[in-house]
Amino acid sequence: MDIKITNIKSESFEWERPGIWNGMHFYGPGRLHKVTISTDQGIKGIGWNGGTAAVRPNNFYSLYVDYYKTLLIGKNPLETKSLTINLGEKQNKILGSAGLHTQVLAALMIACWDIKGKVMGQSIHSLLGGEQKRVRAYIAGGYYAKGKGLSELQQELLHNVENLNATAVKIKIGDPNAGISKDMKRIEAARNAIGPNIDLLVDANCAFDLPTALSYAKEMENYNVYWFEEPLAIHDFKAHKTLNLSTKLTIATGENYYTLADFETLMENKGASMLNVDATICPGYDVALKVAKLAQEKGLKIAPHGCQELQLPLVAAVSNGELLEFYPPEVDELRKELFYPKLKIDKDGYVTVPDIPGIGFELNMDLLNRYRVK
Ligand SMILES: [Mg+2]
Repeated sequence: MDIKITNIKSESFEWERPGIWNGMHFYGPGRLHKVTISTDQGIKGIGWNGGTAAVRPNNFYSLYVDYYKTLLIGKNPLETKSLTINLGEKQNKILGSAGLHTQVLAALMIACWDIKGKVMGQSIHSLLGGEQKRVRAYIAGGYYAKGKGLSELQQELLHNVENLNATAVKIKIGDPNAGISKDMKRIEAARNAIGPNIDLLVDANCAFDLPTALSYAKEMENYNVYWFEEPLAIHDFKAHKTLNLSTKLTIATGENYYTLADFETLMENKGASMLNVDATICPGYDVALKVAKLAQEKGLKIAPHGCQELQLPLVAAVSNGELLEFYPPEVDELRKELFYPKLKIDKDGYVTVPDIPGIGFELNMDLLNRYRVK
């Protein structure tokens, strides 16, 4: 189809939220960056970054949109594969290989996929392969917060299971003020709250060196932990190899891998068996799908990280899509009204992929406009 990009709009939003933290980062205000791509056929596509726990310097985003805009105007938005290469790899010398600019590129490519879906009258999920109609979700949370002790953590997890239908929940470990014995008490408390039949995931957000990660893994084998996420610095592939070989736990990582090469190197090193690929980081659905297919060839699974409305089309597209990360309104109040249709976890712990052309979700602009930054 002959269709050309005519304009790109960048918008940023920011709102207050109670602060939370994990083993590495403190999360203050909620933030969302949105891009809208217009075409000469009147069809518009949207993409975004953030929408949950996203501390990122929003003011950089619009500058990168301006840069990419000059390369995108007049181009066919359906040609996402070549656009991803031309605006990604081929800009390495100018912009560097990855970072905030490739997050912006991801949002732009997602907007192009949104257009593709609308042009073809199909969901991105079905265009990517559509292998699963429903996928199991786990609820992300279990952050550290001021005044939050073990009983508050237990209440949160119980709420996720009893009221939000989760059959799997995640907690953070690795707060430098906690240490291994306090963190094990945390894991024990979590397990006691949810009982033996709910899956418990733990996430260190890259807080550990190899000896610490090995000690944690050894201890956690006693608590039936479903996976140990981001135990190590992302590019320490050798350490991932050693850890993964030495533990029975499932090692998960990938939310901070920006390139296919990162995932290839991880897989060559047999550094993890669960890949938390994020389509808003790596960047976009073309690269994310490649990662998922490569994982499939090697018998590995994916459980995408990040904004569930954007990752659902990906995880459900492939047969090795294991779990969807799901942020509840308890992590960010605005989530209650931020996306349409509202994505809910069904009674059996699964979510259903909406059969709507494009992404399948819209942003609630009446709400977001109240928090407009630029
Ligand atoms: Mg994580």
